[in-house]
Amino acid sequence: MRTYITIFFIGLLFTGCSKQPAQSDQLYQQQFYIFGTLVGISIWDVPEKQASEAVDAIINDFQAIHNHFHAWKPGALTDLNQAIAAGQAWTVTEPSLLPVLEQATLFFHQSNGLFNPAVGQLIQLWGFHNDDLSSTYQYPPPDKIAELVALAPSMDDIKIQGNLVFSSNRAVQLDFGAFAKGYAADLAIKKLHQLGIHNAIVNAGGNLKATGQKGDKPWLIGIRHPNGEDILAAVALRGEESVMTSGNYERFREYKGKRYSHIIDPRNGIPVKGFTSVTIISQNGALADAASTALTVAGLQDWHKIAQQMGIKYVMLVDEAGTVYINPAMAERVQFQPKKKPKIIISEPL
Ligand code: ADP
Ligand code: MG
Repeated sequence: MRTYITIFFIGLLFTGCSKQPAQSDQLYQQQFYIFGTLVGISIWDVPEKQASEAVDAIINDFQAIHNHFHAWKPGALTDLNQAIAAGQAWTVTEPSLLPVLEQATLFFHQSNGLFNPAVGQLIQLWGFHNDDLSSTYQYPPPDKIAELVALAPSMDDIKIQGNLVFSSNRAVQLDFGAFAKGYAADLAIKKLHQLGIHNAIVNAGGNLKATGQKGDKPWLIGIRHPNGEDILAAVALRGEESVMTSGNYERFREYKGKRYSHIIDPRNGIPVKGFTSVTIISQNGALADAASTALTVAGLQDWHKIAQQMGIKYVMLVDEAGTVYINPAMAERVQFQPKKKPKIIISEPL
């Protein structure tokens, strides 16, 4: 979720954009808008020129991801979606799409289809293919929802042969919104390593990935309370790790005074209720991002099983009443605000 997680030493929220005065000579920080959110990059202890060039390279990469993989603005992904809807094969014009399809398919299987980026038509039907969600929108026709659910678009419908991509189901519409930020964060950290930078954080609107340390201390980050204001907990990161949070309070639609989250349950085509935020720590940012969405859909009943299937080791979930569900390994790592300690339920180990 875009502003859940912030980095303590930077302050609660980034403000403004572009380069910030560093708080110490060793900390280089820069921020920019992309993916509809503010991205902040913090780099520790490298010459300013090297840091600035590295950030420029990441901005280029992120712009390319934005252009190629946007769910509704024209680019490679919308071309592919149009071909699928027309029952045609798509000739790969953007090879970077292939590993994304591969990862998405793996996470689709591991999550029993709860993470399902093939349900773009449902996401669009609920009005989420829009930058501005404040505009008025109609509750989708229930028969249209039922029709799309019955058509069961899935990642298994996609076939790749050489440089052709084909879907056996024309109801498939790909939307990578649930793991694009995690995927981008993975690429950014990889790029930093290639450029000789090993101590940094890339924070895409609260979904972040860190590498190394801040000098002799670990990177310390804050996980925001789903009320959008307070910090719920702090966690020190260990080497290369990402922290991804899915939540439902920033991107939602309102119909007749009721809120509908941007995370859709592919089994019934309806926005999920239950958890207001799900935070995952994993080395793999794309996996953590996909899993945070999948566990939101899985709900109280199934999150533990799906987390195990996805190989997740650290999870914290918050329900609508503010109760925190957490696995023991995660509970050992996070520190709650002493004055605002929520009700905490520790699960079986993962
Ligand atoms: P955020 O973008 O706020 O970090 P998520 O990572 O959970 O939150 O991504 C939510 C986005 O994922 C939605 O806006 C939509 O594009 C997409 N999406 C919604 N439901 C699903 C689902 N069940 N499986 C895969 N993608 C989904
Ligand atoms: Mg996600």
